[in-house]
Amino acid sequence: MTNEFYACRVCGAEQLDPPWGEDDQTPTYEICDCCGVEFGYEDMSVESIKDYRQKWVERGANWFRKKYKPEDWSLENQFQNIPEQYR
Ligand SMILES: [Zn+2]
Repeated sequence: MTNEFYACRVCGAEQLDPPWGEDDQTPTYEICDCCGVEFGYEDMSVESIKDYRQKWVERGANWFRKKYKPEDWSLENQFQNIPEQYR
C-alpha cells in the first residue's frame, strides 16, 4: 500500500513528493497528474476534497496528464490509497 503521505487526498494517486510535505502541513502547490487537484488549494478541507473528487468522477475521472496513466490503472484500487480521514 502507498504511504499515505505520498497519496493525493482527492484521488489516491501516488506522488513523487508528499503533497502536503513531510510534516503533512506544507503543501507543494503541485498539480496531481491524475485528478488535476492543486495541493494546498482544492484539497484544503475534507469538504473541498470530497467536492472536487465527486466532480472529477462525474466528469469521467480522466487523467489530467494522460501520459502518466498506467496501463493497468484502476480507479477503485487507487481510491484505497486515500487516507481514511479524507474519504
Ligand atoms: Zn489526485
